[in-house]
Amino acid sequence: MSPDTLTPVASIAPPQAFSPAEFDEYVVTSYARFPIILERGQGCRVWDSEGREYLDFVAGIATCTLGHAHPAMVEAVTRQIQKLHHVSNLFYIPEQGELAKWLVHHSCADRVFFCNSGAEANEAAIKLARKYAHTVLGIENPVILTAHASFHGRTLATITATGQPKYQQNFNPLVPGFHYVPYNDLAALEAAIAQLDTPTRQVAAILLEGLQGEGGVRPGDRAYFQRIRQLCDEKGILLILDEVQVGMGRTGKLWGYENLGIEPDIFTSAKGLGGGIPIGAMLCKSFCDVFKPGDHASTFGGNPFACGVALTVCQTLDREHLLENARARGEQLRQGLRAITQKYPNLIAEVRGWGLINGLVLREEVELTAPEVVKRAIAEGLLLVPAGPKVVRFVPPLIVTADEVEAAIAMVERALA
Ligand SMILES: *Cc1c(COP(=O)(O)O)cnc(C)c1O
Repeated sequence: MSPDTLTPVASIAPPQAFSPAEFDEYVVTSYARFPIILERGQGCRVWDSEGREYLDFVAGIATCTLGHAHPAMVEAVTRQIQKLHHVSNLFYIPEQGELAKWLVHHSCADRVFFCNSGAEANEAAIKLARKYAHTVLGIENPVILTAHASFHGRTLATITATGQPKYQQNFNPLVPGFHYVPYNDLAALEAAIAQLDTPTRQVAAILLEGLQGEGGVRPGDRAYFQRIRQLCDEKGILLILDEVQVGMGRTGKLWGYENLGIEPDIFTSAKGLGGGIPIGAMLCKSFCDVFKPGDHASTFGGNPFACGVALTVCQTLDREHLLENARARGEQLRQGLRAITQKYPNLIAEVRGWGLINGLVLREEVELTAPEVVKRAIAEGLLLVPAGPKVVRFVPPLIVTADEVEAAIAMVERALA
C-alpha cells in the first residue's frame, strides 16, 4: 500500500521536513548526525529531502535486511496492523509462537524470549545467566567475562558488559560482576577464569561476539571459540554469544556461530531480525526454565506486529535465497575492496569480514580516519558507517545486487582518490 492510496485523515497533519537546526531544538543531542535528511527508500537506495539518491550500505546499521519498502514487508506491516498489533503478554500471541518456532527450528536454541532491542536481549541473557548461577550452580558472586573492544548496548548493564571505556565514562557506578579479557586471546581468558575462582566468586558466563562489529569488524578465531566451548563444558560456564549484529543471515550463514563451528548456550538477536521494525530476542537452551513467571518481562516484547513482520523477514530469507546472496555479494565486495587496497597499500591495511559485514581497515599511522572516508563516500552517493576510528563498515541490505556492489566499489575508489 503506497502512501498515496491511503485515505487522508483531515485532522492529522502529515510530518513536516525539519531543518537540522530546528530538529536539534527539540531532540536530545546525543547523536552526531550527518546533515542529511532522508525521506524515502526503495530496495538498496534512499533519497534525501533535496532529491539526491544514495546507495545505502548502512541499512539502518545492519538492520534493514530486506532493504527499503520491500513488498513482503509492506504487505506484512499492512496485514498485521489491520488485524491486531498489540495485546501484551497477559495473553497467548500466535505470531510470537510462530516466530519462536521458526527461530528454534533454524538454530541450536530450544526457546525464545522476545523484547525490543539488542541491549534488552543482552539484559535478558545477563539476568538468565545470573539466575542460573545462583539457583543451579550455587555461585554467590557470579562474574561474566566479556572482551575488550566489544559492544553489547547502551543500558547500564550492557555498557558495563561493553569492554570500551568511552561508553562508560561519566556513567558510573557501573553494574558489578563483569570482567574483561582481550578478544581472541585464549591464554588471557584461561588466566582470568583461574584468577576469578574463589570460594564465593566464580565465572558463570562468557559473553562474546562471534565477530566484533562496532569494535572494528574483527572476526572471531575458530580455534579460540572452539576451545572456549570446551572450557565452558568442562567448567559448567555458560557461553553467551551476542548475535545482534551478525545474526539473521548477515554473515552468509543464518547465525554467526555457524562460522565458528560451535553452539552457544544462549544467544541474542535484534538488528536484522525485524528488517527495521524494533524487535529483540534472547534464544536459549532448555535450562532457561529457571526463569519462572514474573522473573522477566517486556510490555512491548513479542507483540503481534513486530513478530508478524519478523516472521515475514525470516521467511523471505529462505524464499529469496538471501544467505547465498550474502555470501556471493560479500565475496564480490571483498574482492573489489582488496583491488583498491592494492592500489593504496600505504592507506589501507586490510579488508576483513564475513558475508555482508565487512570492514576496510585504514593504516594506524596515516592521518585519514574512517569518519572522513565515510564523509567522502557520502559525497559520492554511498552511505557507509565507521566501526571505530580506523575501520569503515559495509553492511548493505541482504538483497543487494551485483550491480549495486560494483557501483559501491567504484564510489569507494573515487572517495579515496
Ligand atoms: C547494535 C548492537 C547492540 C545494541 O543493540 P540496540 O538495539 O541498539 O540496543 C548490541 N550488541 C551488538 C553486537 C550490536 O551490534
